[in-house]
Amino acid sequence: MAGIYELTKAQIMLRDSVRQLAQEKIKPIAAQLEEEEKFPTQVHEWFREMELYGLGIEEKWGGSGAGCTECALAIEQIAQVSASCAILLGAYSLGPRVLMNVGNDEQKQKYLTKVASGEFIPCFALTEPEAGSDASNIQTKAVQDGDDWLVSGTKCFATLADVADMYTVFAKTDPEKGTAGISAFLIDKGAKGLTIPKHEKKMGCKAVHVCEVKLDEVRVPQRNMMGARGDGYRQTVRTVEVSRYATSARSVGLAQGALDHAIEYAKQRVVFGKPIAKFQAIQFMIADMAIQIEAARQLTYKTVAEIDRGNREEAVKLGSMAKCFAADTAVKVACDALQIFGGYGYMEDYPMAQYYRDAKLLQIAEGTTQIQRMIVAREVMK
Ligand SMILES: Cc1cc2nc3c(=O)[nH]c(=O)nc-3n(C[C@H](O)[C@H](O)[C@H](O)COP(=O)(O)OP(=O)(O)OC[C@H]3O[C@@H](n4cnc5c(N)ncnc54)[C@H](O)[C@@H]3O)c2cc1C
Repeated sequence: MAGIYELTKAQIMLRDSVRQLAQEKIKPIAAQLEEEEKFPTQVHEWFREMELYGLGIEEKWGGSGAGCTECALAIEQIAQVSASCAILLGAYSLGPRVLMNVGNDEQKQKYLTKVASGEFIPCFALTEPEAGSDASNIQTKAVQDGDDWLVSGTKCFATLADVADMYTVFAKTDPEKGTAGISAFLIDKGAKGLTIPKHEKKMGCKAVHVCEVKLDEVRVPQRNMMGARGDGYRQTVRTVEVSRYATSARSVGLAQGALDHAIEYAKQRVVFGKPIAKFQAIQFMIADMAIQIEAARQLTYKTVAEIDRGNREEAVKLGSMAKCFAADTAVKVACDALQIFGGYGYMEDYPMAQYYRDAKLLQIAEGTTQIQRMIVAREVMK
């Protein structure tokens, strides 16, 4: 197993070119994007130009045919400078991956090729007011009407819903069958009955919106059902179990970005006649941050290497370990990095408050840290 996640030359080249984009183009506008709370159109175009949206998608559907390792490397670099922009890129990993694994060729031709080019922005709408960690408790229903389905319900916290071109939506087609009665549908933007009543006001990552999505008898043709009737949810869970790496990579990147700022500041901030970087207490904080980040990074790289190798069992266990550990690391590092800035860390003139706010989301979305620990416990005790 030694060297299993050693990066290839091509992967290093990709990482470095995304790093350049992040540091030279996105970093200077990151604070402004948060301030404006508007979809980062320019960044979206840069991602398209660099063909980053197609990284995790097979070549025959317009992607580059690269693996999850490449996706993770790219997301990590972007997250160092902007959590919002990393969410935008990461959104192209989960929904499209479900489509790649569960969808049929016709659906892939129609949707996946456009996702790969960045022409379509995807939205993954599973969570509901009464169904977050227990996603199987969704109340949205799909009732058959001739060759179509009428989908009704309310989704919440759907990332990018307000700008999306397509929605992956889950609904009960056979409510009495539990999880075996939940199906997955692809719904087009502008479908009659689909409305976005509001976007939530949230504590961070403000350049990408999360929204409520109302579905009022939205007519969806049978050909837009993904997977067999009643199988969409189970297949999606199987995909989600090995797709959390995007959040792990976001966590590693965010933590690294916060640490980089802290080191720079510690070297130039003079207190008691010397730079605070000379104080051992500060050095130890920086050392602990670096240790935790590197551990989180290696766990994340190992996870994506196992996914790319098709080693599902290992990827599920490692994926939850990485998601949990990397998110906890990001929160701890963002907190300690802010501490190094003292009072200035608390001020919006500096980026630390932003890192601190953005980090918290990592412990919640795509399965909370509690849920990840449940999965790890299940996997190591079976
Ligand atoms: C900014 C943001 C973006 C999001 N984007 C999307 C998206 O694009 N699409 C989508 O479908 N969803 C999205 N979500 C939803 C997200 O996945 C859920 O918020 C998350 O899964 C938790 O669900 P919940 O909020 O209902 O919390 P709950 O499930 O109500 O959990 C509340 C608390 O109880 C804990 N808990 C729950 N069950 C257990 C248990 N068995 N044992 C121990 N502790 C437990 C949880 O860990 C948590 O601390 C997003 C959320 C946020 C905040």
